[in-house]
Amino acid sequence: MSGFRYVSYAQEVIFASGALARVGEAVERFGWQRLILCTNHSMQANGHVNSIKSVLGDRLIGTFDRVQPHVQDVQVAEALTLADQNHVDAIIGMGGGSPIGMAKAVAFALEEKRTDHPTRSAFPTEQPLIPVIAIPTTYAGSEMTAVYGITHTKESPPRKITVNDPKTAPKLVIYDPELTLNLPPHLTASTGINALAHCIEALYSITRHPLSTAAATSGIRHISSTLLNCCRDGNNLEARAEMLLGSHLAGLSLASVSMGLHHGLCHVLGGTANVPHGIANSIILPHAIRFNAEATASQLLPAAEAMGISLNGISPVMAIEAMAQKIFELVGEMNLPQRLREAGAKLNESDLPDLAQLAFQNRTVQNNPRPITEPAQIQALLRAAW
Ligand code: NAD
Repeated sequence: MSGFRYVSYAQEVIFASGALARVGEAVERFGWQRLILCTNHSMQANGHVNSIKSVLGDRLIGTFDRVQPHVQDVQVAEALTLADQNHVDAIIGMGGGSPIGMAKAVAFALEEKRTDHPTRSAFPTEQPLIPVIAIPTTYAGSEMTAVYGITHTKESPPRKITVNDPKTAPKLVIYDPELTLNLPPHLTASTGINALAHCIEALYSITRHPLSTAAATSGIRHISSTLLNCCRDGNNLEARAEMLLGSHLAGLSLASVSMGLHHGLCHVLGGTANVPHGIANSIILPHAIRFNAEATASQLLPAAEAMGISLNGISPVMAIEAMAQKIFELVGEMNLPQRLREAGAKLNESDLPDLAQLAFQNRTVQNNPRPITEPAQIQALLRAAW
């Protein structure tokens, strides 16, 4: 067995139907007095903002409810002002990966502002000055990780960069399946595929370790058994709980390993071409699996098995091809776009070489298990996905 090294984070995780009602008790235990909430309009519309307001009372002293996708730098600056003026001691991100990413970005920036020096941790045991509370309502998995993306909107083209630091890992994570009951089918499907992608890339990660492999394999089992049910019957609380558990395991596997081509490319498609994150994941995942199949078949076999592919009488690479095809078909069955040209973004086929070039420079892409030596390899994948 080869050696391994990974970093884990001190986090309290509460998973239960109705867990939102327990935020007040948890916040009191941590001693947080002045909180702001980062969220967006859909959380206002479906009543979740009112619910958390009634649980936290006077402790919730501000709400930034306009978070846009892909964590825009200009919005981080606005929310930072709100947090700073209100002298907050913790920041809540409630919603999908974008509000949770926003909460991390604001907490990180606020610590930098208050201490007047760079926030970077020298050791994984260092704790943040302004902790983050994450309340996920999609399956994106950001709540478990010490990473956020931020889009630099003034660059031309705009570019999403990744900040990775143990201090950004949320200290308190509340999973309440009831909050996901009104997640619409297309977001259920696309963020569910995002969770599946975390598990797949964790399994073949160049920094994988026994715990990430165990979490990823179990995550795939939960997700593949229930994602379609959640899309067809969003009100099925049992299926929602099963799916949220799958996304927790996916987030856990993602949290301690480096990702590869798939995640790096989806960041470029999101930050530069504004493709919604879950849609980019749904289109790219089968192609990324095929690209890596020869190099990673032995690591991906548990995933194929967990997705119900029979391994009898076929080679590992054939089993992985069958899994890629099954994911492609699942994406179609859930009425998501299967091709980049259908992604609904301002994206033309003539943009693909530039996107491939940008992706080639992406650090996550360069961590891919099959070495990527020239942008042409990525361009070929993008053309296959077009
Ligand atoms: P998102 O947060 O942008 O949300 C997408 C849409 O879902 C929004 O319109 C939102 O209003 C809606 N929504 C969320 N929950 C809802 C609910 N319960 N009911 C109705 N509507 C709801 O998208 P996402 O896919 O959750 O997250 C993607 C972002 O998160 C990207 O920026 C991605 O890079 C980041 N991300 C980060 C990590 C990490 O480890 N840091 C992991 C995964 C994703």
